[in-house]
Amino acid sequence: MEKQSLKNKTALVTGSTSGIGLGIAKRLASTGMHIGLNGLATAEEREAALVAVKEAGAGDVRFFGADLREVGQIEAMIDEVECWGGVDVLVNNAGVQFTTSLADATTEVWDAVIAINLSAAFHTMRLALPKMAKNGYGRVINIASVHGLVASKNKAPYVASKFALTGLSKVAALEYAEIGTRETGGVTINAICPGWTETALIEPQIQARAAERGGDRQAGVATLLAEKQPSLRTSLPEELGELALWLCSPVAHNITGTTIPVDGGWTAQ
Ligand code: NAD
Repeated sequence: MEKQSLKNKTALVTGSTSGIGLGIAKRLASTGMHIGLNGLATAEEREAALVAVKEAGAGDVRFFGADLREVGQIEAMIDEVECWGGVDVLVNNAGVQFTTSLADATTEVWDAVIAINLSAAFHTMRLALPKMAKNGYGRVINIASVHGLVASKNKAPYVASKFALTGLSKVAALEYAEIGTRETGGVTINAICPGWTETALIEPQIQARAAERGGDRQAGVATLLAEKQPSLRTSLPEELGELALWLCSPVAHNITGTTIPVDGGWTAQ
């Protein structure tokens, strides 16, 4: 069913040259959608992502090199996606994290985290949502975090950005709730809230725990999980891709303004 209804639509996935964004881009590509990739990556990483998404089945795939700290570059990227008729599915996934105490967090760290994790999503949403409303179909999937639902120490800018991102998602969901029909699929805005997921983003935290255990990476992962994630299993990017794809289906028309934890029970505690 998804293959029929999504085939001629366009998805823009920010931060999709690696990790969760790439996992989501590949799963959406399997429907034949046009996929816009984005990220700060080397030429090799960019090329590998383009090949992977094409091989996954994308109708077309293009890379947009916007640095999401720059509003002008975000505006240009959304304009360029007009080559496919505009954005139908927007996945605000790009994100950065620095672990530091509140007192030691610098202005540069705060500004970068807020710009990439929060302000970029505000700009892509304000630019893409009106067109979705006109079409009676649209999906915004904001990749927040368990840290959009609960806090941890030494992550003040990150936690602040993710709580704000879930709030932004809820406001947009209310403003667009009445758009469209069951048949067109409506315009929905949701936040997915992953717990520990195997990507480069959490590698420094794994390595810090591994260093305390004689450099044993597996022991580092186990320690990280034991601290917070009751399932004691990490998630994989492709599992989040599966959820994102399901949210894109018209059958999910009434799921909006939600935060969906994928966290092995972390936020149930
Ligand atoms: P990742 O480091 O593999 O991916 C981050 C992506 O963001 C990369 O493609 C990177 O190029 C891009 N990016 C960074 N700065 C950018 C900028 N200025 N402009 C454009 N792109 C930029 O990490 P990931 O784990 O896949 O993270 C993806 C999202 O998932 C993030 O928002 C992160 O907060 C969230 N998340 C991750 C986890 C986890 O355990 N990995 C848990 C919860 C939430």
